[in-house]
Amino acid sequence: DRQHDGRLPKASMRQLDAALAMLADSLMPTQEEKAAQLQAFEAIRSLLTARYPGARVHLFGSVANGLSVRHNNDLDVCLELGEITADDTAGKGEVAVVVGELMEAAGMSDVLTLPKARVPVVKFVVPRTGTKVDVTVNNLLACINTKLLADYCAIEPRLAPLVALVKHWAKQRAVNDPYRGTLSSYCYVLMCIFLLQTRPVPALPALQQLPPTFRRTVGQWTCEFCDEVESLRGFGAANNESLAELVWAFFEYWAWRHNYSHDVISIRRGACMHKDEKDWTRRIGNERHLVCIEDPFELTHDLGRTVDRQTRAVLHKEFTRAATLLRDAEDPLDALFAPY
Ligand code: ATP
Ligand code: MG
Repeated sequence: DRQHDGRLPKASMRQLDAALAMLADSLMPTQEEKAAQLQAFEAIRSLLTARYPGARVHLFGSVANGLSVRHNNDLDVCLELGEITADDTAGKGEVAVVVGELMEAAGMSDVLTLPKARVPVVKFVVPRTGTKVDVTVNNLLACINTKLLADYCAIEPRLAPLVALVKHWAKQRAVNDPYRGTLSSYCYVLMCIFLLQTRPVPALPALQQLPPTFRRTVGQWTCEFCDEVESLRGFGAANNESLAELVWAFFEYWAWRHNYSHDVISIRRGACMHKDEKDWTRRIGNERHLVCIEDPFELTHDLGRTVDRQTRAVLHKEFTRAATLLRDAEDPLDALFAPY
C-alpha cells in the first residue's frame, strides 16, 4: 500500500528537497526585521516598567524561540508582576485594562483589551513599524514553553525549517486560526516536534523524559525538563531524513496515520497517548477533543479543543491534499502553498 509505506516514492526527491530548503530560507526573518522587532519590544518594555517599576517584562513566542516566519509581524510580550498569582485571572484582567489605557495614551493603534479572556490580553499595533503586539500578564507558562521550544530548536537544526514550511502552508491554506476552529501556530510547532520525536530513528528526544535540569512551578503546574542542549546537539545524527522527507512524513501522518478517534499527541511523552488516559473522550462544554494535542505543561489543556466536526474535516482534507500532492505531483510546490 503506497500511501502507508511511509516513504516518498518520487525520483525527483533531491530537487524537491532543494526547493523546500530555499523556500524555508526565504521565510526566515532578516537581521533588519529581527532588529526592528527587538526595538519595538524595548519601547514597550520601557512603557510598562515606567508604569510598573517592580515588574519584569519578557519576550516570548516565536520571536523569542527562533521560530518566527517573515512578514508575520507579531510580538508576544509578558508583563510579570510579583503581586499577581498564576491563577488570579480577574487580577490579570484588571492589569490588562490599565495596560490598554497606557498603550492608548502612548499612541499605539488599534488597541483592543480582552480582560475576560482565558488568558487576559491587550492587543495593539506599533504605528511606525506595523508590529502587532499581544501583551499578557503573568503568562509564565507561555514563557516556559517558549524556552522548551527554543531548546528543541537548538538541539535539531531541521526543526526550524520544518516549522517555517508548516506555518507557511497553514497560513496559505487558511488553517491557522484557532478563533475559527483550526489550529494555532503553537499547535503546529508541537506537531512538528512530535513528528521528529517519533520518527523510526528519532531526530529529537523528549526533554521532559530526561533527568530534569530546569525546574519551575507555576500555580498547580510543575515544569521540569532537561535543558542541557549542548550535550544533546548530536541527538538526531543517526536520523538522515531530508527536509523533504520530513515534510512528507508530517502530512502523511496527519492524512493517513493519525488515529483521530483514539490518539492524543504528547511531546511530553514523545509518544501518542490514548484519549481514555486523559479523559478526553467526550465533549464537555465547548471542548470537543476531536483533534487532541496535549500542552507540554498545562496537562489538562488540549490545544486541539477549538476544532469542531466541520473544521476537523477541513483540516483532514488539507492534510490529505498536501500529502497527495507530495506523493503524486511532478512539481508540487506551487500547488502545495497556493493561497486557499
Ligand atoms: P507566530 O509566529 O504565528 O506568532 P508563535 O510561535 O508566536 O507563532 P503564537 O500562537 O503567537 O505562536 O503563541 C505565542 C506563544 O504563546 C507560544 O509560543 C506559546 O508559548 C504561547 N501559547 C500560544 N497559544 C497557547 C495556548 N493555547 N496554550 C498555551 N500557550 C500558548
Ligand atoms: Mg506569536
